[in-house]
Amino acid sequence: MLTCNDATRLLSDSQEDRLSFKARMSLTAHLMMCSGCRNFGRHLQILREAARAFAAGEDERTGEEQGQP
Ligand SMILES: [Zn+2]
Repeated sequence: MLTCNDATRLLSDSQEDRLSFKARMSLTAHLMMCSGCRNFGRHLQILREAARAFAAGEDERTGEEQGQP
């Protein structure tokens, strides 16, 4: 059984689609029983979509703002 710590780490990893099948099943089982980690996963998803939208917006601009500091 995963701890919440393990689950949140897996959730972060899953954002990059690199979870093994076994890890994914463990995570899914944990999420079914743990509303705290479900919420965390939802927030991660929102952040991910926001980051993607932001990145897309950046691409539409000149892209020169993201140069060297
Ligand atoms: Zn949990």
